[in-house]
Amino acid sequence: MDISIVIPLYNEAESLPELTRWIQRVMNENGFTYEILFINDGSTDDSWKVIEELAKTDPAIHATAFSRNYGKSPALNTGFRRAQGDVVITMDADLQDSPDEIPELYRMITQEGYDLVSGWKKKRYDPLSKTIPTKLFNATARRVSGIRNLHDFNCGLKAYRKEVVKHIEVYGDMHRYIPYLAKNAGYKRIGEKAVHHQARKYGTTKFGLDRFVNGYLDLGTLWFQTKFGIKPMHLFGLLGSLMFAIGFVATLVVLILKCVSMANPDTYHFYVTRSVYFYLSLACMIMGLQFFLTGFIGELITRNSPERNNYLIAGEF
Ligand code: UDP
Ligand code: MG
Repeated sequence: MDISIVIPLYNEAESLPELTRWIQRVMNENGFTYEILFINDGSTDDSWKVIEELAKTDPAIHATAFSRNYGKSPALNTGFRRAQGDVVITMDADLQDSPDEIPELYRMITQEGYDLVSGWKKKRYDPLSKTIPTKLFNATARRVSGIRNLHDFNCGLKAYRKEVVKHIEVYGDMHRYIPYLAKNAGYKRIGEKAVHHQARKYGTTKFGLDRFVNGYLDLGTLWFQTKFGIKPMHLFGLLGSLMFAIGFVATLVVLILKCVSMANPDTYHFYVTRSVYFYLSLACMIMGLQFFLTGFIGELITRNSPERNNYLIAGEF
């Protein structure tokens, strides 16, 4: 099978028939063998009924329904587990992404050798409140992930070599960082294609402004996992040692000042509990110890992680 199209959806009943017809037309015009995988993420509208009706007319349509709304990432992950096509395309169900882009995305994966091609909504039809923070967000994501050539990390329209989706696990809200996940899994040929974008025709957006707060927090988590995921002591040990060193110096200062004051009892009175160094040494010792303990616990956790010896082998004799 050439292409699997994975479509996560949450309350998109009005868009589905139009989207399906559009995909079918593009697939047939280009002679692709394909499957459409709808992942119904706990919709409360008629989406599931609409999908069942559509599936009666085309054996290429398959679907999974979650019992409740889990989120876009779990939906994508479920689609990735089911996908069988050589190239896997993800797209939003709201008709903002155009199926007409699929043949070119397919070509870039199969002929230009990309592992992943991400859409780039060069001209966006979204409110300013969304587009401006998005620019900032993408700039940060580029820096942190080291994938310099991507303008638009979170575009719903993406194409993958099948192998890539089988080797990454999308969870939580990590769909914003799939290129970063792919890079961490060892897939470096990540490209971009400017794609047409449309204003939402039916329904409303499912993500509010909290997307930016959560987006940044998730980026921090991914950065941490990438750098220290299997060696947490390298971070916490360093922080602990730093704290310990500062605390040690502060204790020395307190000791020296106390000795000097005791040697000159008539001219100089030094009170340990009135010195800032005393509190500094206390705080640093406690924090340093905590960092070390966090590091040790982190090491015990990674020891049990099934991921700890997961490498993508590029060649072998
Ligand atoms: N979506 C989903 N589960 C959710 C939220 C969204 O499956 O909890 C789907 C949604 O139906 C759409 C896609 O994810 O197909 C993108 O959502 P949306 O269009 O609301 O995002 P935006 O375009 O505003 O970034
Ligand atoms: Mg949308």
